[in-house]
Amino acid sequence: MQLEELWQQALGEIAINVSPPIFHSWFKNVELIDIRGDGVAVIACHNNFTKEWLQEKCQKLILRSIRNHHPAVKNVIFVVKTNTSNPKIRQTYQDTSGVEKQLTLLDLSSDPETNLNKKYTFSNFIVGSHNELANAAALSIVENPGTRFNPLFIYGGTGLGKTHLLQAIGNEFKTRYPKKKIRYVTSEKFTEEVVNGMRHQTLDAFKEKYRSLDLLLIDDVQFLSGKEKTQEELFHTFNVLAENNRQVVFSSDRPPRAIPAIEERLLSRFSGGMQADIKTPDFETRVAILKAKLGQMQSELNESIIEYIASKIHKNIRELEGALNKVVTYIRIKGEEPSQAELEHLLDEIIFVPSRLISAKKLIQAVAEFYDISERDLMAKSRKKDVVKPRQIAMYLLREELKYSFPAIGEKFGGKDHTTVMHAYNKIAKEIEENPQFMHEINLIREKLLNS
Ligand code: ADP
Ligand code: MG
Repeated sequence: MQLEELWQQALGEIAINVSPPIFHSWFKNVELIDIRGDGVAVIACHNNFTKEWLQEKCQKLILRSIRNHHPAVKNVIFVVKTNTSNPKIRQTYQDTSGVEKQLTLLDLSSDPETNLNKKYTFSNFIVGSHNELANAAALSIVENPGTRFNPLFIYGGTGLGKTHLLQAIGNEFKTRYPKKKIRYVTSEKFTEEVVNGMRHQTLDAFKEKYRSLDLLLIDDVQFLSGKEKTQEELFHTFNVLAENNRQVVFSSDRPPRAIPAIEERLLSRFSGGMQADIKTPDFETRVAILKAKLGQMQSELNESIIEYIASKIHKNIRELEGALNKVVTYIRIKGEEPSQAELEHLLDEIIFVPSRLISAKKLIQAVAEFYDISERDLMAKSRKKDVVKPRQIAMYLLREELKYSFPAIGEKFGGKDHTTVMHAYNKIAKEIEENPQFMHEINLIREKLLNS
């Protein structure tokens, strides 16, 4: 059951990343049948042709979509299985017809022209203090597109509603201005289109398509790191659109200046309009989100269970939904509410308790990757500014996350004195306290660490 549910959630994401014909031709009889102990997800296809096609074209997308809902997954493999339906799963699935109805593929598919999925709207986007700025900015550009807030740059951690908000902007725009041209695209898809354009000499058509839009929504621009040609195309596309008062919206998991390997001129465009962040929701908002989702599922749940879920899961709304689905499904199958012990057990797999799994090596790797510097530079003696700060952050996190002593940290970093480490630690701790944006950045590294 759990696999089925996870797969349905992953499919929801896949559906907005591929065109409906592709989605229906290739994903119809495909199932997630196992997640092995070593973190490999096994996808069953009904013939070899599908297997090879998916392997070649969609492996990354599938991996990412599964990982978004189940971060422990490290890889996917594809197998052929003529009768893909695991009877056990099928059985349970039929028992939960309510859930099945809620997740039919039709609801999940997106419009091929705009890539918009109707399920993401403003009306089902719960607003709390964590996202009110982003929500207000989003509403404002629907009201007055292409004027003040251009581009709108929305950033925040995984599972906090960025895609939902971008899609909601698109859907609302479409309702208000049915004639206008809209396109939602992930930065990976955009990159792929640029690459294909170069390969097949169709860049002109690509340019024409993008430059004639009234609203362009590009999701997850942090993935444009290091993609020079794509950045160049995006830069020119943006300029043409902005000059003509067409609206552009970007999202990213971090503020523009924290994305490595982006050309300066594009960075200055990213930061040249309105930036709005989405933080983690507070307890009351988490409860409100859970209640709203329950309403949509036409289910009810004891207040104490709702509050328990909200108290246990704070960092990711996707996980909040996952937990809720699990509990609701449990009740549908068993016909009764879970006991406290069962509830804890159900949520255990969603809630992270991974500190013991983090090693100093992983931590250093995560920091180096986040700032796009080599681990060697991070650990070496260099005093270059762009290395010094990440190094101090790595020291801070070694202390905070792994409880290393100051002398032990000094030793790791080539025999530095413990007072130097203490100084670094205090400096970072102070900055976190004073600067919410910086705190956010550190949290992103933490999250990366937990998901690595
Ligand atoms: P991100 O793109 O930031 O990783 P998503 O937009 O995919 O996150 O959100 C993850 C899930 O949480 C989605 O199913 C989305 O509908 C839901 N969600 C996020 N924020 C809200 C909100 N404020 N109200 C209702 N649902 C939300
Ligand atoms: Mg997203």
